[in-house]
Amino acid sequence: MDMKGICPECEFSFMVSDLVVGESLACPECALTLQVREIDGSRLVLEMIESELPDWGQ
Ligand SMILES: [Zn+2]
Repeated sequence: MDMKGICPECEFSFMVSDLVVGESLACPECALTLQVREIDGSRLVLEMIESELPDWGQ
């Protein structure tokens, strides 16, 4: 089943299918990593994940 998600960062809306709560995906627009917090009917509630990129110092 297709579900609609809206990126909390850039507000881009997109359709995805077969996601479950807790699953992560990348926003097709801004490439931010998002996690499915809740599924409300055919609407996904997404929140951004603070990704810690390795800091190599140089
Ligand atoms: Zn986005």
